[in-house]
Amino acid sequence: MAKYRCPKCGVECFEVTAHVTQDWKIDGNGTFLESLNDCVEVTHDPDEEDIWSCANCDFSAAGREFRNLEAERKGAGA
Ligand SMILES: [Zn+2]
Repeated sequence: MAKYRCPKCGVECFEVTAHVTQDWKIDGNGTFLESLNDCVEVTHDPDEEDIWSCANCDFSAAGREFRNLEAERKGAGA
């Protein structure tokens, strides 16, 4: 199981972008009026190719840059 931490400050909390679908109310021109919910379906979970931002220090990089290889080795019991 992959583990992640900020390589700069070490926290394990990040801000990432998920792709979700959402139901909208629209008018007769097809113009957005309001959203009816936050999320109907997740079409793309944040992965290591996306840009992640540290929730603490704002360090930004691809998700793979946040891999905590040391914790992963420990977690594997090696
Ligand atoms: Zn950080």
